Amino acid sequence: MNNRHFPYWPKRLSKTLTVPETTIVDHLETTAKRYPQKTAIHYYGASYSYKQLWEQVNALAGYLQQKLSIQPGDRVLLYMQNSPQFIISYYAILRAEAIVVPINPMNTTEELSFYIQDCETKVGIIGQELFAKVEPLLSTTPLEHIIVAAYSDYISESTPIALPDEVALPRQSYDRGHVCYWVNCLEANLAPNPYQGHVDDIAVLPYTSGTTGVPKGCVHSHRTVNANIVSAYHWANVTSDTVCLVTLPLFHVTGMVHSMHLPIFAGAAMVLLTRWNRDSAARLIEMHRCTHWVNISTMLIDFLANPSLSKYDISSLASIAGGGAPLPEAVGEKLFKLTGVQYMEGYGLSETISHTHFNPPDRPKLQCLGIPSFDVDARIIDLETRKELGVGEIGEIVVHGPQVFKGYYRREKETEEAFIEIDGKRFFRTGDIGRMDEDGYFFIVDRVKRMINASGYKVWPTEVESLLYKHPAVQQACVIGVPDPRRGETVKAFIVLQDEYVGKITEEEIIEWAKTQMAAYKYPRIVEFRSSLPMTSSGKLLWRKLQEEEYQKLEKG
Ligand code: AMP
Repeated sequence: MNNRHFPYWPKRLSKTLTVPETTIVDHLETTAKRYPQKTAIHYYGASYSYKQLWEQVNALAGYLQQKLSIQPGDRVLLYMQNSPQFIISYYAILRAEAIVVPINPMNTTEELSFYIQDCETKVGIIGQELFAKVEPLLSTTPLEHIIVAAYSDYISESTPIALPDEVALPRQSYDRGHVCYWVNCLEANLAPNPYQGHVDDIAVLPYTSGTTGVPKGCVHSHRTVNANIVSAYHWANVTSDTVCLVTLPLFHVTGMVHSMHLPIFAGAAMVLLTRWNRDSAARLIEMHRCTHWVNISTMLIDFLANPSLSKYDISSLASIAGGGAPLPEAVGEKLFKLTGVQYMEGYGLSETISHTHFNPPDRPKLQCLGIPSFDVDARIIDLETRKELGVGEIGEIVVHGPQVFKGYYRREKETEEAFIEIDGKRFFRTGDIGRMDEDGYFFIVDRVKRMINASGYKVWPTEVESLLYKHPAVQQACVIGVPDPRRGETVKAFIVLQDEYVGKITEEEIIEWAKTQMAAYKYPRIVEFRSSLPMTSSGKLLWRKLQEEEYQKLEKG
């Protein structure tokens, strides 16, 4: 069934998109030529033009090539919070014809070590506050060089909103051995080699665990990224007059495409926040007259719950969109009452470099993934027979489209398992369970994959369990997601203690220990000790049973 034929598919969107044959680097170059003096980035009171952005991208690319011997196809780690330096580094890596490996700044040294080894990154560009986590890896992993950036270097004296203390560290002296300081790299002013990038070159490897517990790099070329830049461009109607509030983390695909690549493609301005703060966001909307904001539901819920919100003039906001987690209907309604703006929810994955579905601006539905994006063929298949299902029937969502990744980096088996052939076309299996209504809109109802969606951060229980097993008191662990009013879902661990630890250790002690072992969004917020855990006869943990028990407990209140 072709979902294009549903009656409510808006005419404006009923077209095939031409994905440009240019690269992401070409987009920035074109914008810098068209709008050299236009502000590209507003950052806590400082402003940077597209000309400056392009010059710094080239200077850093020159350094990567001439000093650090970066070759086309090399992977470069980008481990940084939202900042002008993140954007400059991302484009500089591409300008050097290398591949960006963006990593969540919350990851620990051990987690980082996995990524570096998995795709063999020799060079890392990092935020100064993360230096202590990266330095030990210079001697234990393929990492050979680090470029360290201090966000405070890009802040103006007259900052109306302070950079949060934990990231506002003053610049330290880093030029030693294999570590160099950002400003010195730019000041070296080395010219990069003539650009020979091609639209089918790999551009970025966003990591995800997909449907299993092992993190894997999703291979995205300039072409797959372009597909979503262009479809977002038509969906959100972003132009050079648009002012985008950027609050989503740029290392993640939604922020990357909608809040960085799209504004650069359109020549729009980006108003950057390093850390989410609802007052700062409202203040920046007022100051810069932001017109467009892409967020995740948890951010919007927090924003609307601000008792001081009415102090700010947020009337410039004309479009608000988001994805990554469901937006409760009531929150969408509250937003509409307050601003007159309809929330446009979208849906997608790292494997599809953000959206495959979005709600049409003129006919959005609430708490709904939307309709398939341009040139996307999305279907629902039966979990067992794998046959295509009809309207209203529940099964796995599978997608075929120009933004679907090529596969997982250097993992043929997992790549093969992620796809299914239907009608001679290769469909990606999302691991999400959903249904489609009679208008062609998709809804998510559950997941096949064992994943917890905590504020949009995806937590894989098997990974958390294997870290918990490192504690000497843990005999058995089972991690599940439980509803949480603030995070959507949060992480809960059921633990069976080794006999000698029973009565000698508390749940709180396990939580405190877990905090030191994994990224902040992953560690269990709730721990419950049990004398045994439900298992199948083959010894598999029945995690769904525990999850159902939790939901039943909540229903009973
Ligand atoms: P990631 O690869 O981190 O982008 O995570 C992708 C997963 O996020 C999907 O497989 C869904 O489970 C979830 N997701 C994305 N968008 C939505 C949405 N609008 N509503 C509910 N879950 C979503």
